Amino acid sequence: VRAVLHHTHAETPHITTFWFKPDRPLRYQAGQFTELRLPHAADDRGDKRWFTISSSPTDDLLGITTRHDPARPSSYKQTLFGLQPGSEVTLAEPMGDFVLPKDNKRPIVFVAVGIGVTPMHSMVKWVIDAGQHRTIHLLYAARHLEDMAFRKLFERAPIAFDTMLKQPPAGWTGKRGLPSAQLIAELPGVKDNALVYLAGPEPMIEKFVAELPNYGVENSRLVTDYFPGYITV
Ligand SMILES: Cc1cc2nc3c(=O)[nH]c(=O)nc-3n(C[C@H](O)[C@H](O)[C@H](O)COP(=O)(O)OP(=O)(O)OC[C@H]3O[C@@H](n4cnc5c(N)ncnc54)[C@H](O)[C@@H]3O)c2cc1C
Repeated sequence: VRAVLHHTHAETPHITTFWFKPDRPLRYQAGQFTELRLPHAADDRGDKRWFTISSSPTDDLLGITTRHDPARPSSYKQTLFGLQPGSEVTLAEPMGDFVLPKDNKRPIVFVAVGIGVTPMHSMVKWVIDAGQHRTIHLLYAARHLEDMAFRKLFERAPIAFDTMLKQPPAGWTGKRGLPSAQLIAELPGVKDNALVYLAGPEPMIEKFVAELPNYGVENSRLVTDYFPGYITV
């Protein structure tokens, strides 16, 4: 599907949302992802990347949100961050099963690490816009306070919003460090059969999946989204 860049919005100094207007409306469920093709003279990482659709199906435009690593950006990220409104891109049909359960009484625990927060943003925005009543606990872990995107939305959402910083500022009252399987197993609701959604850098999510059963959280309750290309936050 062809789409044009409508505008961009800086969520944090390094995280930007790119808002696209597709040629025709794209149907998707909150939490799904697409593939964005950017024709350019690409390095060996190529001209396509997977991105979660960070917007909600209730939004008029379609958003993707990504990080810009100024130290060693790929040719892809350099091109993306250089796009001007009106630039043309290609989007794949949305896909993926990192979506809310049909049963809206099932308690949910979201664990988002770094840019893994994008599908959580889509789902929480959708829950708000659709006026749904769900029990959601969101733990959002990032490196610095200024790396936390979407905080205002999460603070006003009807969810329990829990934060964790690897390098917190002085006076920080939230959690410190990075989440571990043990910490996740002890989050409110996890002992009561909540579904546990995990999104973030691939090696971290793999570790949680391997270790959570040791803490009584069986794999059948886990819903995962792995973001390759990021090692840690
Ligand atoms: C289902 C799914 C959903 C995703 N959703 C999102 C999303 O919502 N937002 C998002 O930002 N990303 C998302 N990703 C990840 C995304 O597709 C890219 O992999 C990621 O953004 C990294 O982009 P980049 O390769 O252009 O690296 P950059 O962002 O330019 O670089 C990231 C860092 O890793 C290093 N690096 C990464 N790969 C290599 C390599 N091959 N060689 C050398 N250095 C490397 C870079 O030097 C830099 O330090 C998703 C992936 C999947 C599979």
